Formats: sequence, C-alpha cells, structure tokens
Amino acid sequence: DKQMKKIEDKRDKNRTFKKDSSFLKVEENVFDVPTLKLLYTLSNKGYITEMGGSISTGKEANVFYAKGNEGEVAVKIYRLASGTFKSMDPYILKDPRFTNIRHSRKDIVFAWTKKESQNLIRAKKAGIRVPRPIVNDRNVLVMEFLGKDGNPLPILKDFALDDNEALPVYRQIIEYMRRLYVRAHLVHADLSEYNILIDPHQDETEENKSENEKFSAKDEKNTTGLIPEPIIIDVGQAVTLDHPNAREFLSRDIENIRRFFKKYGISEDSKTILEKIKQK
Ligand code: ATP
Ligand code: MN
Repeated sequence: DKQMKKIEDKRDKNRTFKKDSSFLKVEENVFDVPTLKLLYTLSNKGYITEMGGSISTGKEANVFYAKGNEGEVAVKIYRLASGTFKSMDPYILKDPRFTNIRHSRKDIVFAWTKKESQNLIRAKKAGIRVPRPIVNDRNVLVMEFLGKDGNPLPILKDFALDDNEALPVYRQIIEYMRRLYVRAHLVHADLSEYNILIDPHQDETEENKSENEKFSAKDEKNTTGLIPEPIIIDVGQAVTLDHPNAREFLSRDIENIRRFFKKYGISEDSKTILEKIKQK
C-alpha cells in the first residue's frame, strides 16, 4: 500500500533527520500518531537524538537507524495499524509469562515488544551475542546498533563465509542454541540465516577487540576474534521451554540451520544436533 511504498522509497537514501519539525514532516506518513508521539518522548529523553533511514521493512516491524545519547542505535517499530498480528498469536498467547494480557491487537503488539526486550536480556545473560536492548516502550524497541557509521552488519544469508570459517560459525550457532536452551530456557523459534548477523571482525581496533573478549570471556569455546562471529537477532517470538510448541519450534530451527550449512559441506543429523543443544 501507499505507506509501505513511502518507506521503501526512503530506503537506501541514508538521510538523517534532525530533531526538529522536519522529523514530523518526513515521518508523518510513515508512522501513526501514537507512534510519532512515542518517538518524540524517546527523543526528549535522549534515547533518540537523530532519526535515520530505514534498515528493514518486515512483516510486522520496521527497523530504523538512529543516533542517541549512547551512540548509534537500531529502532525497531512494530506497526499498530497494519500487519498480520494473527501470526503472533501462537507464540505469545500460550506463553506463561503473558497469560493475562488483553487480546486486542494493540495489547498483543505491546506485550510482544516487551517480550523481545526481555528475551534479549535473557539471551545476553546466557552468554549469547545479541544486541543490547536500551529501552522499550509500547511498540518501540531501541537497541544497540550492530554495525558502524550507519552500515548494519550483514545477515548470514548475504555473507560469503570462507571454507575454513563455515565450521566455526556453525559450531558457534549450535553453541548459542544450547545456551539459549539450557541456560535461558528459551527456543528462538524463527532461527535462520535471516536472523543471524555476522561480525566479520575486519576493522578490529584495540578497543572493540577487548569488547569481543568480554563477550567470549565467559566461555572457553568462543572465537578468538579473528573468525567471523554470529550474532542472534529477532527474538520477539522466542518461547519458553514450557510452551506447548517449544519442541516443534526447536526442530524447525535446527532444520533451518542444517539446511543452510549443507552447502558448506557440513551435515550433522538432526538428532545429534538436538542432543548437543540439550547437553547441560
Ligand atoms: P518481524 O518478522 O518480527 O517483523 P523483522 O524480521 O522485520 O521482524 P528483525 O529481524 O529484528 O525484524 O530486523 C530486520 C533487519 O533489520 C535485520 O535483518 C537486520 O538487517 C536489521 N537489524 C535488526 N536489528 C538490528 C540491529 N540491532 N543492528 C543492526 N541491524 C539490525
Ligand atoms: Mn527477522
């Protein structure tokens, strides 16, 4: 539709919009009024100081690049007015953490955004590299921007792994699935080459090198910082292990990862992978 077209048109233009009247002018047809008001509130609080261009237009959410008091951020905005929120229902309505939410679309979206933020925190605590959530309010999640100078890191699908890089990246992903399962008690439920970013570690400065070491300090199995490192994103639909469909979602995640790494000559059977993931 028209609004979607406008967002698409804005893509790749890489313009930034200062926090003044032009912010509203440019965005008024992209966001609904409550979302705009929320963005103003977040900008008054300093979480967003400059709104940038669109990074992605998804089924339910748009991701924008922005700057805030803490530096570069990604702003994920779930659409209130359009979208197929029916697809959210099976994930959230049976989640024991969200049993008493009202079932209006708006309430589901707000709960969903909160769930994504909570899941990011749980995953990070479990030693998984994920974007750090900064603030969430209603349908907006502000998080750490993965990338540099406005350029987001590539998704796994678009990153050409060298033959010697595929296996360590694959192993790291399986290890992250294990940590998510045994430590965070979560199943991602939408894991694929589309929801994994790759940090190529190409412009390793001393500063971010020590950052990487912090990430891997908790676990001996992690990368040295020289091998591309996977980062898990899009955890809004992740479910707890007591969710009735957790097993089925986990099998689907495993199949997606298996299928992707087959072309690199990696083929472990599903049962072996499942055992690894459940290994305490
Ligand atoms: P949904 O399907 O729930 O609508 P989505 O697939 O649109 O979600 P994400 O997968 O979270 O949303 O993000 C879409 C894209 O935006 C990603 O593929 C990635 O390229 C980019 N992106 C998301 N989060 C970040 C981030 N923190 N830093 C940089 N880029 C990001
Ligand atoms: Mn996604």
